[in-house]
Amino acid sequence: MNTVEIDIFMVRLRTFADKGLPTNEAETLADKLALRDRESDDRRVCLECQHFAGQGAGSWRCGNWQTAGVAIRSRDAQLPGDLVVQLQRCDGFTAQPTIHTTRDRR
Ligand code: SF4
Repeated sequence: MNTVEIDIFMVRLRTFADKGLPTNEAETLADKLALRDRESDDRRVCLECQHFAGQGAGSWRCGNWQTAGVAIRSRDAQLPGDLVVQLQRCDGFTAQPTIHTTRDRR
């Protein structure tokens, strides 16, 4: 990794840990996102989204559930652990300003 990629990797690790992702899973996800950035893949994960809320599996939920299409009512907007780390294209996604991709910084 170059210096910019390492900086982004470290920001992602801290952010994912703050959201309650276990350290080993945060590292795996940050590695996956570094590869994604290099490949110009436009998919994102929920953990990069401003609408992601909660701290730890079981409390994770989507604050933009209607646009995202993940629920039909607010109380059903919980996000399962395997979904929040899955690369996807979501109509409700809004990038967190603290997690920049390599593309965004060019
Ligand atoms: S808007 Fe989409 S990407 Fe953002 S938290 Fe909800 S489901 Fe995930």
